Amino acid sequence: MTQDPSAPDGGLPFAGLSALVTGGASGIGLATATLLAERGARVACLDLTAEVPEPLLGLRADVSDDASVRASVATAAEAFGGLDIVVNNAGIGAAGTVEDNPDEEWHRVLDVNLLGVVRVTRAALPHLRRSSAPAIVNTCSVAATTGLPDRALYSATKGALLALTRATAADLLADGVRVNCVNPGTVDTPWVGRLLSAADDPAAERAALEARQPTGRLVAAVEVAEAIAHLAGPWSSAVTGTALPVDGGMHGLRTRPT
Ligand code: NAD
Repeated sequence: MTQDPSAPDGGLPFAGLSALVTGGASGIGLATATLLAERGARVACLDLTAEVPEPLLGLRADVSDDASVRASVATAAEAFGGLDIVVNNAGIGAAGTVEDNPDEEWHRVLDVNLLGVVRVTRAALPHLRRSSAPAIVNTCSVAATTGLPDRALYSATKGALLALTRATAADLLADGVRVNCVNPGTVDTPWVGRLLSAADDPAAERAALEARQPTGRLVAAVEVAEAIAHLAGPWSSAVTGTALPVDGGMHGLRTRPT
């Protein structure tokens, strides 16, 4: 169990709180769910698979299907006696310029990356409004703030998610529900593993991805999880409507230091 003596509650700042993490069965979502559980939260993972390690509660659902989202949110809230934290993290990738993808592909990716967040947030809000420490954290991307080549559709979904984060934060201010997002750079997850295995030269592709970040390495999933936990927790009680880059300096720095 991770212990941080400087944190409130002797290192278990999420004791007594419950969280729902979408896309919680892999990568950033699994790292976040694990971290929140280690720090005292009861955590449900809403994902296409319900296979998650103990003590996480696995809930099989598709964020592009409203009925399955509503059923899973209700199950989590009933199991935990409420919901305090929602991490909207499920997402899918898409390569291509505006000329490469037909309308159907735009609708498919928007349905998960943007509307999926709308559905989960909408279903969870009645529970969050009853919480004493409600917070929503969305997993956005450096693609929302930086022009990445060959990622028009994916970037558009994440740019829209950044705007949605801010607008929702404004709408929920009076309810005391904080809404923020993280903007990761390239993170070492199964997602990136799949991209690398599909490349002609995986080692060269990995080196190119590492070189794109000023720190010269990929971000670890747990580093994004720490940022999400910060935004979900008591340390950020004055923070809402903002985006925290976790990107090895991609957004703020022009070159890698020598
Ligand atoms: P991952 O593929 O390891 O995990 C994503 C999880 O989301 C999987 O468990 C998958 O089953 C689930 N998921 C996908 N579609 C779903 C759906 N319709 N309903 C429910 N669950 C669904 O990926 P990851 O790298 O951990 O990415 C997580 C989030 O981080 C995504 O939103 C992604 O856009 C974002 N992100 C990733 C990176 C990166 O470099 N890995 C960078 C920036 C942002």
